[in-house]
Amino acid sequence: MCGIVGYLGSQQATPIILDGLRRLEYRGYDSAGIATLDQGQVTIRRAEGKLARLESLLANQPLSGTVGIGHTRWATHGRPSEINAHPHVAGGIVVVHNGIIENYLELKRKLLDLGHRFSSETDTEIIAHLVEQHFKETADFESAVRRALGEVRGAFAVAILCAQQPDRLIAAKQGSPLVVGQGQGEYFVASDIPAMLSHTRQMVFLDDGELVSFSPSEMVFSTLAGEPLQKLAKTITWSPVMAEKGGYRHFMLKEIYEQPRAIADTIAGRVRENLGEVFLEGLKLNESELAALDRICLVACGTSWHAALVGKFLIEKHVRLPVEVDIASEFRYRDPVVTAKTLVLVISQSGETADTLAALREAHRRGGKVVAICNVVESSIARESDGVIYTHAGPEIGVASTKAFTTQLVSLYLFTLHLARVRATLGQEKLRTMLSDLLSLPRKVEECLGLDAAIEQAAQTVFQARDFLFLGRGNQFPIALEGALKLKEISYIHAEGYPAGEMKHGPIALIDEHLPVVVLAPHNATLEKVAANMEEVQARGGRVLAVSDRADGDLLAKV
Ligand code: GLU
Repeated sequence: MCGIVGYLGSQQATPIILDGLRRLEYRGYDSAGIATLDQGQVTIRRAEGKLARLESLLANQPLSGTVGIGHTRWATHGRPSEINAHPHVAGGIVVVHNGIIENYLELKRKLLDLGHRFSSETDTEIIAHLVEQHFKETADFESAVRRALGEVRGAFAVAILCAQQPDRLIAAKQGSPLVVGQGQGEYFVASDIPAMLSHTRQMVFLDDGELVSFSPSEMVFSTLAGEPLQKLAKTITWSPVMAEKGGYRHFMLKEIYEQPRAIADTIAGRVRENLGEVFLEGLKLNESELAALDRICLVACGTSWHAALVGKFLIEKHVRLPVEVDIASEFRYRDPVVTAKTLVLVISQSGETADTLAALREAHRRGGKVVAICNVVESSIARESDGVIYTHAGPEIGVASTKAFTTQLVSLYLFTLHLARVRATLGQEKLRTMLSDLLSLPRKVEECLGLDAAIEQAAQTVFQARDFLFLGRGNQFPIALEGALKLKEISYIHAEGYPAGEMKHGPIALIDEHLPVVVLAPHNATLEKVAANMEEVQARGGRVLAVSDRADGDLLAKV
């Protein structure tokens, strides 16, 4: 999720890299760093927090050199800190990395036995040591990189320098994005196009398993195994603003399509599927504190409140703890019952929602523990809570929440499984199954996004309606509320979300051919009941738009 920028040419590398990192800020980060090579000398500057901190460090201690790499980090292994910020260095090998090295513990043990000493808690530092080790054996930078990357499992985009071969920059990727920019006698490499667009429009997109080696006179592509590759540069015609939108018409659309990545990033590094375990580093509450809880209050506003309603289903079902869900502006004024055994879980994308922040303070005042689910590192809510579960969605610029909502649901699911293990309400086998379901989610979301053309067609049939009803049962009821909210916010069409079973107590009177009814009908225990609601709608001439997980003869007959 972080940003990588590399430069090799004749200009000073630092300002170019810093500017590139700034243009990747939208990806989210908690620390940043730059390394340059100047006459065979590696110099590194790193700072926790925003790029402005790195910038003022560089103003006091400038970095010179025409070759360099930079990084904005979103911590997966090791807390956000200067020590863990990239670049990482070992024996003249300097690495920035985006992704996760899954077998890092195994590799670390091996390297420790060989006498390597580590200075950070990251998985990334392994790569620097591995390359150093192979460089000692081969004395060739490129083959050392190939051998090292051959040993790591997981996802990576890397940019690597070597003090002993100062006119080279090597980059490679497997599972994380990396783009190469070709200028006049200079080369760029970055996680995304906007980082380089003010310098060149000639870009080469690296595929998984590919490596590029830059020298002052050329860039050479090959597979990680060493097969030469011919890669063609594409001319990017996007304006810088379009590039930030990734070519989509607007940010909301881009963010909808970012969901598989955002979900995968929120899960990454937090689960050990074979053991049925979840790691929530920032949660801070230890197992005995979690075991002592007797109640959970979920507090949020708007879309986050809908996520909280789903959280109630998850926690009550799997942890058997009573859960209350409150709208923050209600909670803060209604004299809520909060004791030392209450966990108040506040949810906010920005971490700055005023009512949620006030509710958090109220909960603290009453002696409760507060954990936040939020998307912005170091936001007020994150800072004031006792623990934080960050959604790694990246900045959400669209006003109507999309990827933040789905990653909030993922975070609630992770939290539920963690709590269920600690409180022994689910066995290891069940935890394993639920984790494996979770891990398949990015792929399933990808499949849903592939239905966009059919969804557009369905929208064409109802877009002139002035009112909509959204129905769902159980954990689909909050999703019906969220669907109605989305339609209101984006289309200015009146919509209401209802528990399907409540239809007969009011909304049924409104149903006619002018009121499309969106029915959430996944194959679960209440499908038959939901199908009966669809019949009731149709009996009154209403139009049903069913949303289901698979086509089903009986179900479709009701649509
Ligand atoms: N896993 C690495 C770390 O925790 C890289 C994280 C990132 O992609 O920013 O340092």
